[in-house]
Amino acid sequence: MVARLILILGDQLSENVAALCAADKDRHVVVMAEVGDEGSYVPHHPKKIALVLAAMRKFATQLREDGWQVAYSELDDTENSQSIAGELLRRADQYGVSKVLVTRPGEYRLIEALEDCPLDVEMLEDDRYIASHAEFEAWAEGRKALRMEYFYRDMRRKTGLLMDGDQPAGGKWNFDHDNRKPAPGEVTFSGPMQFEPDDVVTEVLDLVEARFGNHFGDLRPFWFATDQAQARQALAHFVRYGLARFGDYQDAMLADNQFLYHALVSPYLNIGLLDPLEVCRAVEDAWKAGDVPINAAEGFIRQVIGWREYVRGIYFHEGPDYPHRNGLDHHRKLPAFYWGGETRMRCVSKAVAQTETEAYAHHIQRLMVTGNFALLAGLNPAEVSEWYLAVYADAFEWVEAPNVVGMSQFADGGVIASKPYVSSGVYINRMSDYCKGCHYKVNVKTGEGACPFNLLYWHFLDRHRDRFSNNARMGNMYRTWDRMDEERRATVLRDAEAFLDKMSSGETV
Ligand SMILES: Cc1cc2nc3c(=O)[nH]c(=O)nc-3n(C[C@H](O)[C@H](O)[C@H](O)COP(=O)(O)OP(=O)(O)OC[C@H]3O[C@@H](n4cnc5c(N)ncnc54)[C@H](O)[C@@H]3O)c2cc1C
Ligand code: SF4
Repeated sequence: MVARLILILGDQLSENVAALCAADKDRHVVVMAEVGDEGSYVPHHPKKIALVLAAMRKFATQLREDGWQVAYSELDDTENSQSIAGELLRRADQYGVSKVLVTRPGEYRLIEALEDCPLDVEMLEDDRYIASHAEFEAWAEGRKALRMEYFYRDMRRKTGLLMDGDQPAGGKWNFDHDNRKPAPGEVTFSGPMQFEPDDVVTEVLDLVEARFGNHFGDLRPFWFATDQAQARQALAHFVRYGLARFGDYQDAMLADNQFLYHALVSPYLNIGLLDPLEVCRAVEDAWKAGDVPINAAEGFIRQVIGWREYVRGIYFHEGPDYPHRNGLDHHRKLPAFYWGGETRMRCVSKAVAQTETEAYAHHIQRLMVTGNFALLAGLNPAEVSEWYLAVYADAFEWVEAPNVVGMSQFADGGVIASKPYVSSGVYINRMSDYCKGCHYKVNVKTGEGACPFNLLYWHFLDRHRDRFSNNARMGNMYRTWDRMDEERRATVLRDAEAFLDKMSSGETV
């Protein structure tokens, strides 16, 4: 007799997920469901949907081989109710049970759907992370500002990663200073490991094409890893060939190289194919073996046990309204060029184009190109956030919202960032080769051909003077602005307004 259902969601594809660990093969049925609601509550990139569905199907097979009974709903099953709660109810009816065990989902939308489900649903904490909710709360308690750096040091102490006794290996906690080199002339890493679609993947690709082919993004060629063994190969490939230069060129951008020395493991980490500690240990081992420098290993490990854990902590600490915050009162509509429409800004056009083909852009492209532009132009953060959630293969709300609403758009009023991440074209020009060949001229500040980032940068500072002029980290920016003569300032603001009007009226900018 079946005693209860064990719900496994599409981003919980690990045999170590809490609900599975607490379950019993003989008495429990695992429920997995491909549902239309999850594929379309935002218009997810077809590659992202294919990744999740293919990985779910393979994980279900693995569970069956391990002796589990799995009730699996395929997207085009005629009986499929197309919602998670609906599928739970259908399976509950089928097996005559009312008890459900699930690992707490990573977004409020699903948590609420399960809480509202008229079954006896028990949620277990998702312990695939290094910091539990209780640990994050204890860390946050009584602090005036929740800065990542201090949290990260605690995670280093907790895991023992890159520690020399109670001191950081290499004598410093953070080697970020060494990690800001501009784009290299030649990239020696051939990019992430790519996998030929097997039969399962091919079938899923056809399904996704038929059901979600109208979503923004190219489905093919599809090369993601879709099971744990492949994801581990992809990780080993990165550690062996890419990691050594990860630190140096972490912030660099190249128009014709989407990946540089980045790992491309976030999609796998976020759906459970890789474990964060396993990833960090592999990186630490490479450093211990003398294969990679400390700035590479530390830089990488900080992203995973620092930033990744920290943003998750913030998401749950701040509560369900967090993704909807709009601290700077920005309301401009997202222009069509975020969805592939034409723009003459080469940096934006290139970042969007690679997003469309790969469902991937690296951190600095997300932060300092598409994110920077959105913030400078005053785009509505809810629309911006929805775009990021839809277009990246690694986007799940617990990690996407703090990065977008908080770090990138400052819409949380400064919970994550102590100052907004804004820059003129100078930064983009220093860190990339985008400006060469752009319609605009990065060195032109006003008038014909002026780089829009240059205009909008001052426009942003000027319109938010009340909010930021007393920020100690922004004093220099305001002093530079105030030193310009009045006529020049008026011209910059007028040109910026003209650009924004043109953009909002749908003209190509
Ligand atoms: C505006 C914006 C939106 C973002 N949205 C997402 C998102 O939806 N999902 C997501 O996983 N990451 C997001 N990030 C963080 C980061 O861009 C991606 O994790 C990274 O680009 C993934 O590619 P990679 O595996 O090649 O990473 P690498 O550059 O090789 O970094 C290694 C790993 O560190 C982790 N990491 C690095 N930075 C962050 C961060 N800020 N937050 C969380 N984890 C981090 C990732 O797991 C990543 O795989 C966002 C960043 C910004 C600025
Ligand atoms: S000139 Fe300005 S718009 Fe053009 S690529 Fe450079 S930063 Fe982007």
